[in-house]
Parts: sequence; structure tokens; C-alpha cells
Amino acid sequence: MSTVIEQSHSTASCEAAVEAFMERVIAQNPGEKLFHQAVREGVRSVMPIVLANPIYRQHQILERMVVPDRVISFRVTWVDDRGQVQVNRGYRVQMNGAIGPYKGGLRFHPSVNVGTLKFLAFEQVLKNSLTTLPMGGAKGGSDFDPHGKSDGEIMRFCQSFMNELYQYIGPDIDVPAGDIGVGAREVGYLYGQYRKLTRRFNGVLTGKGINWGGSFLRPEATGYGAVYFAQEMLATRDLEIAGKVAAVSGSGNVAQYTAEKLIQLGAKVITLSDSDGTIVDMDGINEEKLAWVMELKNVRRGRIREYADKFKGAQFLPGKRPWGVPCDLAFPSATQNELDGPDARALVQNGCICVSEGANMPSTPEAIEVFLENKILYGPGKAANAGGVAVSGLEMSQNASCMRRSREEIDAQLRKIMKSIHDNCVKYGAEDGDGGCCKPKGFVNYLNGANVAGFIKVADAMVQQGVY
Ligand code: NDP
Repeated sequence: MSTVIEQSHSTASCEAAVEAFMERVIAQNPGEKLFHQAVREGVRSVMPIVLANPIYRQHQILERMVVPDRVISFRVTWVDDRGQVQVNRGYRVQMNGAIGPYKGGLRFHPSVNVGTLKFLAFEQVLKNSLTTLPMGGAKGGSDFDPHGKSDGEIMRFCQSFMNELYQYIGPDIDVPAGDIGVGAREVGYLYGQYRKLTRRFNGVLTGKGINWGGSFLRPEATGYGAVYFAQEMLATRDLEIAGKVAAVSGSGNVAQYTAEKLIQLGAKVITLSDSDGTIVDMDGINEEKLAWVMELKNVRRGRIREYADKFKGAQFLPGKRPWGVPCDLAFPSATQNELDGPDARALVQNGCICVSEGANMPSTPEAIEVFLENKILYGPGKAANAGGVAVSGLEMSQNASCMRRSREEIDAQLRKIMKSIHDNCVKYGAEDGDGGCCKPKGFVNYLNGANVAGFIKVADAMVQQGVY
């Protein structure tokens, strides 16, 4: 089937259809506010396509896409260092498998519940589709809080989590990876237990150690990809990263490698943060300071405020986010809804020209409105942070073929994939209808472009596979 991208319906009829659709979604998924937010954002972009193409309505594609293929929920029991029994909840949301095995990270954070994971899994379906690799969408995790836990506690928790999860995953079924609170250490413990339970050594997880099936550049991929995406957006206006001042939020995996790539490309990175507050270093965080941050966060598992004690001239702003600090480029790389309307207005007023989202849904709907009204370059997470899952896809193909590609080859592929995601966003998001050109004349709504490009591929696969 070839998709006819007709968009003949008026804005008013599209808005009415979105509201009617959302009324049902909200009634069927009560209290799951993040899921409602993610679905509304996606549906607003794709409704014109759905209304204009009867085949999607006939197959109830949108209605099917907001109901997970399945939600797995289980108890995770483990023993802490004091010998006390602890109980957490574990989940895997397998959202949509139309274009490949389920794929998406695991998040360990106290805020995790089914609604959070449904929002992340819904985003993941569209994101994975955008990468052009054959991956369905899923997300999982637990309300377990890794902060302050010993290595032994983390290991016992991961083992207990896998005792249940292993039944539902496999290299051609569902391939989890990391996310907030799940990095190389946790993937290692999860993989060890999977291997013990199944007696199989295969590509069931990505983000594995480089000596046992991992891919070069997987740790760096999300952050590097978000910077490559910003480079592509800037190029449409004949601008470049070198010489720009950049604000980055978070100080975990995505933030660290976003900062690393920005520094390599000649930007001045002036902020990092965690849930306690923000550090501002107007001299710039250079490679040496970033290496210290990586040791602080990944080895000593310390807090970002310690940066201001170590590097004189840097300031710690308790409880604050980075967005009030004047910058040219902003990279929200911590968590959802970390950048709201007033933050967005502050960024724009201070001259920010480009926002590239490393995190998933970090900007609130009000913030997105501000970016779009002011026509700044806004790269939504499902496009800008897709580099992580793209290199995970490359890790899967390396595992399947028992071949390892070099760091240079993976970097070249990552760049190529980010460029193709960018060009697809332009194709479907250029408001002057100048589709198909990566250097558009008019404004590009990357949000619409990403949602529509991601949707069409999944929707067409669902139509072709029948009513299952
Ligand atoms: P990490 O756990 O490595 O780091 C998370 C960072 O965000 C920490 O600095 C953490 O601070 C901060 N953070 C978490 N929750 C909050 C909060 N509620 N308020 C303020 N700060 C917070 O996670 P990642 O770097 O892997 O993930 C960051 C974001 O990127 C997430 O949105 C994730 O979904 C997204 N993402 C990650 C990918 C990956 O490959 N890892 C791929 C695509 C998207 P603290 O220590 O105080 O909690």
C-alpha cells in the first residue's frame, strides 16, 4: 500500500476530532496524565492524515495504537544490606510490535508506574519507526530507587527483576536497554541473571559491556545523536555549533555525552544539573572538568553540587533548572516536563535559537507552544534522542551476525541515521509544504514532522498485517 498524504480537513474539524479522541483516551486510562500528554501531542500531529486517509479509520489505527499489545506487571522482592525484605513493582509495557521486536529501555525511579511507562512506550513506537530500523516499541522498569543503594543491593534487585522479566523477552521478541537509573552496571547484572536462567548467550539486552556483546558508542549515542540533530537543524539556517553557548540539564548518561560532543565541536557548555539543582560555570565545562563529572556521577555516584566546591568560579543554584541562564542552544537531558512555559519564555527572551531534546518529553505543551510561536529550531525528543535506540538497533544486528563494527563505522552510521531522521522531519513538517528538501524555505515544525513520519510507517504495517 502506498500512503496518500492528503490533509484536506480544516483545522477546526481536526481539533474537534482530537478532543473527541482524547476524551475516550482519558476515560479509558484514568489518572495517567503523562500518557494523555504524550498521546495528545502525537494525535494532534497525525489527525489530519488520519482524517484524510479512510484506510486508517477503517482499520481503527489510532484507536489500536493507544492500547498496548500487553502490559506485564509483577512483584520484585529482594533483601537489603540490613537483611530486611523489600518489595517493589516491576513492569514491561509492550506497546506495538508491527515493525519489529519490541525495543525500549528500563527505568528505575520512584516515580515509575504504568502510566509513566505507557507514555514512554508510546513515544518509543514513533521514535523507533523514525530510525528506519525494524524495531517495535516498549518500555519497562520499576519504582525501585537506586540512589544510595550499595552495589550488592542493586545486584540483588536486578536479579529479582530479571527472575520475572526473562519469560517475556528474547532477541526476536523484546530487547530492553537502559534509561533513567539503568546504566552499564544494571544492564550487566540483568544480563548475568538472564543468562543463568535461560542458559543462553544472545542479544536480549542492549547497552551490554564492550567485551560481552556490546556495541562501540552505545553509551555515547543518545547524547551525540542529540547534538548531531541540532547540527542538522542549525544547518538549515546556515548556522553551526562552534562558538555557541549551550545549556545542558541532567548529569547522567545523556547529559554527559551531549556535553562531550558539544565541547568537541567547539561549543561552550555552561550548565549541568540533577534533581537537587544546577551548576553554572561561565568559564565553560571543558574536557577535564567533564571527566571529573563522569567520575563523580558514574563511579562515586555523587551529586552535581560538588562541582561548585571543586571548581572555583562555578556556582550551584539549589532547586533551580538551567533555563534562566542565557544561552544559544538548550539540551534538556534529564526527565519529562523539566522545561515549562516560563522556562521556554526565558530561553527565547535570552536569545536561545535551538532546543534539542535528549530527554523524553522534557518540554511541557505550553513550552512547545512558545518554541513554535517564536519559530526557533525545536527538535522533539522522539527525533533528537533517537540516536540511542538507533545504536541499540545496530548492537542487535551486530549480535545477530556475530560481527563487531568499529567505533568509526558506528559513528558514521549514527550521523547518517540522525540526518535521515532530520530530513524526514523536514519532509513531513515543513509548513510551506516544501516536503522532500532538507533545506526548506519556510519554518519546519519538527514535532509534526517526527510524529507523522513515525506514524505512517507503523500505521501502514498494521494495515498490511490485518486485524490481529
Ligand atoms: P540517568 O539516570 O543516567 O540520568 C538522569 C539524570 O536526570 C540525572 O542527572 C538525574 O538526577 C536527572 N533527573 C532524573 N529525574 C529527575 C527529576 N525528576 N528532576 C530533575 N532531574 C532529574 O538517565 P539518562 O541520562 O539515561 O536519561 C535521561 C533522559 O534521557 C530520560 O528522559 C530518558 O528517558 C532519556 N533517554 C535516555 C536514553 C539513553 O540511552 N539512556 C535514550 C533516549 C532517551 P538525579 O540523580 O538527581 O535523579
